Amino acid sequence: MLSEKLAIALNEQMNREFDSAHAYMAKAAFCEYKNYNGFAAFYLEQAKEERFHGMKIYNYLNDRGVRVSFRDIKAPEANYDSLLDTFKQALDHEKEVTKEYYKLTDLAMDEREHATISFLNWFLDEQVEEEASFDSHIEYLTRIGGDKNALFIYEKELGARQFNDTQDA
Ligand code: MG
Repeated sequence: MLSEKLAIALNEQMNREFDSAHAYMAKAAFCEYKNYNGFAAFYLEQAKEERFHGMKIYNYLNDRGVRVSFRDIKAPEANYDSLLDTFKQALDHEKEVTKEYYKLTDLAMDEREHATISFLNWFLDEQVEEEASFDSHIEYLTRIGGDKNALFIYEKELGARQFNDTQDA
């Protein structure tokens, strides 16, 4: 049985994952508006991945006999100076998410809730990947700079990526 405190914290984290999905949709909309359709497609896939994260917690809470509750989705920050800025903001956001998972894991450890610690480990690994991936996108986009041909190729490559929830990512 999960403590009420831990159940509430996990439920909030589930809601935050749905907030994240919304935040990526806002980035997709910006890219769409600027005619960066490949990058828009990338952000829409990223939104799917965030919903998958939310549902992973939803399923865990259900398995543990907790009644899940939903709150309002937070309106995302949607002021971007440039395409690169969307990636920088995404990296900052993912760093905040990582901190949230650290706090949750601390709580599960304080309560010696071993099953939840194990469950959260997946998210800690996932956050390392998320941060590394945005870090490299920023690095590439910075290196590409004003090179339109290179940007075209990079956009095409990123836009072709599809989130596949069967790979458990
Ligand atoms: Mg996530």
